[in-house]
Amino acid sequence: MRLILIGPPGAGKGTQAQRLVERHGLVQLSTGDMLRSAVKAGTPVGKRAQVIMDRGDLVPDDIMVEIIADRLEQPDSAGGFILDGFPRTVAQAEALTRLLRDKGLKLDAVIEIAANEDTLISRIEKRARETGGARADDTVETLKKRLKVYREQTAPVADYYRRQGALRSVDGMKSMDEVTKAIEGHLSAATTA
Ligand code: AMP
Repeated sequence: MRLILIGPPGAGKGTQAQRLVERHGLVQLSTGDMLRSAVKAGTPVGKRAQVIMDRGDLVPDDIMVEIIADRLEQPDSAGGFILDGFPRTVAQAEALTRLLRDKGLKLDAVIEIAANEDTLISRIEKRARETGGARADDTVETLKKRLKVYREQTAPVADYYRRQGALRSVDGMKSMDEVTKAIEGHLSAATTA
């Protein structure tokens, strides 16, 4: 199975991806994790990405497409994957369409975890109060910036797949288990179709 999970920061994308990994034995291809490893390893890409990530902006498309193209070449992707955090722009989505077409691969589903921005902001405000704001990118201001970037640059990616009839949407404001159930429902429909 090959899936894309799309959703704003804080909507539970990472948790849902983790659950799908456990249930379906897919590999989770999280571009955020890949970038964080590059930052930690101090690679040239990591050094460039760090400043951009701290600001809550997007790393340039050419870098991201190269990272994901390399990752899709790894043998573990052959058994199926979940893209978590990619594509985040229409240009990335178009590049992915070409990459998959060249490999003769098709996506089974694109799942959007829809969420209400105000609710996401109050959740993060609560967490920041409780923890004293541990992660730099968890601050309320950065979240607001990331939500704006999502609205302007990533929401059009959902529209791109909606136009192709590939988008399935779930209500990310429900409980974690209910969201998982809704995603599983879409997946069984997609794989039996
Ligand atoms: P995430 O862990 O998916 O929330 O990603 C953390 C940060 O990494 C994002 O705020 C972006 O700065 C960067 N990033 C991750 N994936 C992408 C992508 N596909 N395109 C551009 N930037 C990305």
